[in-house]
Amino acid sequence: MPNTFNQQADCQQYFGKSHDAVRQTVREFVNKEIVPFIDAWEEAGEFPRRLYQKAADIGILGMGYPEAYGGIPGDIFFKIAVAEELVRAGSGGVAAGLGALNIALPPILTAGTDEQKKRFITPVLAGKKIAALAITEPGGGSDVANLQTTAVRKDDYFVVNGSKTFITSGYRADQITCAVRTGGPGAHGISLLIIESTTPGYSVSEKLKKTGWRASDTAQIFFDDCRVPAENLLGEENMGFYTLMENFQGERLVLAVMANMTAQLALEEAINYAGGREAFGRKLKGFQVTRHKLVDMATLVEVSREFTYRIAAKIDAGMNQIKEISMAKNFACSVSDKVTYEAVQIFGGYGTMQGYLVERLYRDNRILSIGGGTTEVMKEIIANFIL
Ligand SMILES: Cc1cc2nc3c(=O)[nH]c(=O)nc-3n(C[C@H](O)[C@H](O)[C@H](O)COP(=O)(O)OP(=O)(O)OC[C@H]3O[C@@H](n4cnc5c(N)ncnc54)[C@H](O)[C@@H]3O)c2cc1C
Repeated sequence: MPNTFNQQADCQQYFGKSHDAVRQTVREFVNKEIVPFIDAWEEAGEFPRRLYQKAADIGILGMGYPEAYGGIPGDIFFKIAVAEELVRAGSGGVAAGLGALNIALPPILTAGTDEQKKRFITPVLAGKKIAALAITEPGGGSDVANLQTTAVRKDDYFVVNGSKTFITSGYRADQITCAVRTGGPGAHGISLLIIESTTPGYSVSEKLKKTGWRASDTAQIFFDDCRVPAENLLGEENMGFYTLMENFQGERLVLAVMANMTAQLALEEAINYAGGREAFGRKLKGFQVTRHKLVDMATLVEVSREFTYRIAAKIDAGMNQIKEISMAKNFACSVSDKVTYEAVQIFGGYGTMQGYLVERLYRDNRILSIGGGTTEVMKEIIANFIL
């Protein structure tokens, strides 16, 4: 591998010995349990359910969660180390599918009762149940405050009608953390319900076929007079929007980390290729235009990663970083857009062929600037702070 990045040497202020030990464990797990099977899983549109159990057994799923619910407490850099190593496997879909719990469970941790946490967090961290987050609807994802799925209280139930789409792990999720309208229009009428897939009136589409993240199952979910016990309400009725906004901060951080690692992998692939491939009797890296391109790519990746780590450290210290995490996500995605594009360019025709990692990185990268809030939505958030 080209020597462009070494967490131990380069990032000592963020990652200590115990982070490195976790990273090494996850890397070994990834090399044994994920890498050899990725092509088959990408083709199948999902990875085997037992991977959740295996990932739980070595602590991947529980990383950063309280011990009381089966987690392994630790600072934010443990989660980042785990996410980076999962992305390093080379399939954004596997990382997204295994990681979906990290957007589905934090709202339960923040707003749920102890009973709800035991019931809905513990089995997921143990790898026995799959959790997903369901906000986006066919009619719109960016305008969260305008979501249309309704939940009407009747006695001890909410009767839910509507649908959600593009839900990561939605095809086989056992439970979803679902945003519904319980009140009037706008942000003040939104609540969060945990809906179990066995609830009558709950159904899912076929797996949606995607540009990238192909090893993750993605689905539309339908609610047809779906009767959800009132005890599954998270926090106060009509206060769900604020829990969701808080949750987005963690999701955006992970998406920035994913973008940085996607770019890192594309850079490494491009450097290797440029060192071997010849044209006009010279190695590609012998052309100054290619050398400079690789230098620009490496510079962008390093700057983006440092900025993301810096924001992560501030979040971990309890500082409000809504503007900064939006900047970090946008910057990281713009870097991964450029670096994956240029990596394919350096590979020439091979870069467009299935079986080449850069081809998959290029496709997997595309979702990063759309999911968890688009580039344009991030800019609106930043504008609200600075203008
Ligand atoms: C592979 C994949 C996995 C996903 N996983 C999940 C998941 O697990 N859970 C979940 O809830 N959602 C998930 N999503 C949905 C994702 O969060 C949404 O796609 C995203 O929020 C954008 O919503 P939209 O697709 O409805 O686009 P729209 O909201 O319709 O936006 C369309 C375009 O208009 C732009 N736009 C919208 N509003 C503005 C504005 N105010 N100013 C300027 N431009 C604007 C957008 O930036 C975008 O370019 C996933 C999506 C994909 C593709």
